[in-house]
Amino acid sequence: LASRAFKEQDTIVKVGDLEIGGGNIQVMAGPCAVESREQLLEAAQLVKAAGATLLRGGAFKPRTSPYSFQGLEEAGLKLLAEAREKTGLKIVTEVMDASTLPMVAHYADVLQIGTRNMQNFFLLREVAKVNKPVLLKRGASATIEEWLMAAEYIMAGGNYNVILCERGIRTFENFTRNTLDLGAVPVVKYLSHLPVIVDPSHALGKWRFVAPMSLAAVAAGADGLLIEVHPNPAEALCDGPQSLTPENFHALMQQLKDVAGVF
Ligand code: PEP
Ligand code: MN
Repeated sequence: LASRAFKEQDTIVKVGDLEIGGGNIQVMAGPCAVESREQLLEAAQLVKAAGATLLRGGAFKPRTSPYSFQGLEEAGLKLLAEAREKTGLKIVTEVMDASTLPMVAHYADVLQIGTRNMQNFFLLREVAKVNKPVLLKRGASATIEEWLMAAEYIMAGGNYNVILCERGIRTFENFTRNTLDLGAVPVVKYLSHLPVIVDPSHALGKWRFVAPMSLAAVAAGADGLLIEVHPNPAEALCDGPQSLTPENFHALMQQLKDVAGVF
């Protein structure tokens, strides 16, 4: 179902009146985690002003350490809904397991499956039953074929609205957090009709490399970007080092317009 051989024409995933795929570039931006009302509303307003169309923010966070901030859970989802109300931005947020899926789906516009859950086939089957688009991140050690088969699980279960997200893979290189596999963008576009977006924030792991790789992703044919932006990255509870400041995000959006000619 995910293959280009099955369906030749590019799939356009609709999120309300927004179209992801088919030549549109959509920017999803916001903090790694929803931390407070003040932080989220400030982030929402600034990414909207810069030209983003979707707001990202995790309310359930898959942290490496159990002692790290785990997210505000339903209180965070409510703040995301409030930010949508105030700005009109659509909401992308991660769902980590089947038990919280009904709650997350109640508030989200797009359900994010994180890299750690890409092959959680039970969860994939559950999101397949929900009538919401799914943003499927590539597993950090997944081949392109494994990633497309994970998309196949969601589609086989009846949900055709899948957006693929390249977020870097694990290699021997450790200066960057992961290795952004930009080659996967044209390869997936050749193999599949599904839209592909790129998350340079988690791939590079350091804010100063996010802008150049965002431009490269668009040049490679990505249908959009997922970018971490925080009103004050130095105080972020999660992924501060890779988060853009409001000024840097604004400059990147300007570059995307001027250099890449998008929007
Ligand atoms: C995130 O988007 O904040 C996240 C946890 O991403 P990933 O699953 O790609 O690590
Ligand atoms: Mn993050």
